[in-house]
Amino acid sequence: MTEGVVIAGAGPNGLMLAGELALAGVRPLVLESRVEPNEEPKANAVMGQAVRLLDHRGLHHRLGGDSQRPSPVPRFLFGALPLDLRDLADNPLHGLAVAQPELERVLARWAGELGVEICRGTEVTGFAQDADSVTVHLHGSDGPRTVRTRYLVGCDGGHSTVRRHAGIAFVGAAGENTCWRAARVIIDAAVLRMDTAEVDLGHKRLPLYAWTRTATGTYAIMPTGGGVVHVSTIEWDQAPPGDDVPMTVEELRASLRRVVGVDLTMRLPADEPPLLRRRNGGNTRVAEHYQLGRVLLVGDAAHVHSAMGAPGLNVGLQDAANLGWKLAAQLHGWAPPELLATYQAERRPAAERVAAHTQAQTALLAPGQQITALRGVVAELFGDAAARRRIAALLAGIDLRYPTGPDAHPLTGYFAPELTVTTTAGVRRLAELARTGRPLLLDFTAGELSTMAGPWGDRVDAVLARHPDPPAAGLLMRPDGYLAWAGGDGLTDALAAWFGPPAVTPGGGRR
Ligand SMILES: Cc1cc2nc3c(=O)[nH]c(=O)nc-3n(C[C@H](O)[C@H](O)[C@H](O)COP(=O)(O)OP(=O)(O)OC[C@H]3O[C@@H](n4cnc5c(N)ncnc54)[C@H](O)[C@@H]3O)c2cc1C
Repeated sequence: MTEGVVIAGAGPNGLMLAGELALAGVRPLVLESRVEPNEEPKANAVMGQAVRLLDHRGLHHRLGGDSQRPSPVPRFLFGALPLDLRDLADNPLHGLAVAQPELERVLARWAGELGVEICRGTEVTGFAQDADSVTVHLHGSDGPRTVRTRYLVGCDGGHSTVRRHAGIAFVGAAGENTCWRAARVIIDAAVLRMDTAEVDLGHKRLPLYAWTRTATGTYAIMPTGGGVVHVSTIEWDQAPPGDDVPMTVEELRASLRRVVGVDLTMRLPADEPPLLRRRNGGNTRVAEHYQLGRVLLVGDAAHVHSAMGAPGLNVGLQDAANLGWKLAAQLHGWAPPELLATYQAERRPAAERVAAHTQAQTALLAPGQQITALRGVVAELFGDAAARRRIAALLAGIDLRYPTGPDAHPLTGYFAPELTVTTTAGVRRLAELARTGRPLLLDFTAGELSTMAGPWGDRVDAVLARHPDPPAAGLLMRPDGYLAWAGGDGLTDALAAWFGPPAVTPGGGRR
């Protein structure tokens, strides 16, 4: 049997892709090397536009977000400089606090409800592709075997086997002179002062919750609850040991001693999975290609960068939503010829923006007089609301416009705006209308646009809507939430360009 899509990796992005495909009528085979779900405490928040994407799928509330709508965060940080967003009328930076294991649980449940099964304990070890299919090599509990599929998607993280096997270059900088260390550890409860938000060592007080620069490096101590703190250090002009050298708590303690000049006793928590990381802070890379024939990359498999500003899931979850409906369209046979190629054209620039801003933020954390001066200048710029909005938009990933034609409406190519409209079924938020994951025409005319879209009725839902001040006569939203078209003219061209030829000719006959 030939599968439609095989997904390597059931991390957040593999699970999101699986759900998107299932919503679009394609049930993928998901292969995950881990036997049990991953409890490693990595991300603790989704930031930016992906929060609205999760809302479009009804997942924002399931993940603990507000039942009404996602809210923007009042404050954030850029390179540890405060970014006060409270006075922005249109603050674009949404945030959803959720621990990564919980995110993965909810996404796995959602995908399961849509009929997706995850084949755990099964590692993708390689593949061979020809013009029609990919033969995927796997290793599971019953030994090695192969499976044939029309498409293979590597959602297998930063060390992606799929990317390496495809020979796709991971372009960027290794940053050999920056060393990040981080671990979740327990420190002496007597010195952890939650009332003053400090670690109080008597002769020295270390602030909690903030990155702090010193003459020799940068550190942060973030309480995570239950007496556990997440300690991070960054040191410059120091080559990190190789990945084969496991980091110890003693190594982190020595690093903190060099950076802050104090000795903080720490030990690993006994009752949670250890999180010990040594990261090369400059390791920022983007895959040269997101697609090689029938093999594609999503999420960390396609891009790695520092966690500054928590951008990883924002870019990865949107990769998954971008690819899901396009792959499904290929398999259903209605994809326009260039549709799949738009995946790389749209998503690679998004990763490059993240690579740029995380590197800029890391540079702002370095020690030295020149960086102090640079921080002063940037802080001054942040006095302007327009500059703060621009940085918030960069962090949210909403400043990226997908390629459009020269005469496109100003909204085309962007994520759809937040809208509440009156439909024949009552008052609805646009996010509620997006739950099905089908392309959606929001028709603010008396029905002329819906009539034009009629021949695409098997693929595109048309909704008659009223709004006191509609942004355009009509909005054509893709399943990933981006606007394929907005305006009054050119609807049928846009429908054909994105969703293929009409199934029914204007005269009523089937093609
Ligand atoms: C300490 C830390 C803090 C972070 N904080 C944040 C944050 O606050 N916000 C944020 O947005 N991002 C954060 N990130 C980044 C975020 O965790 C990643 O972007 C995210 O995990 C990427 O998801 P993924 O599905 O692409 O890859 P992964 O999460 O790496 O998942 C890949 C999956 O593939 C499986 N796999 C690997 N190889 C194979 C194979 N050959 N065959 C089958 N399965 C395979 C793995 O077992 C794994 O389950 C943080 C990262 C770290 C390390």
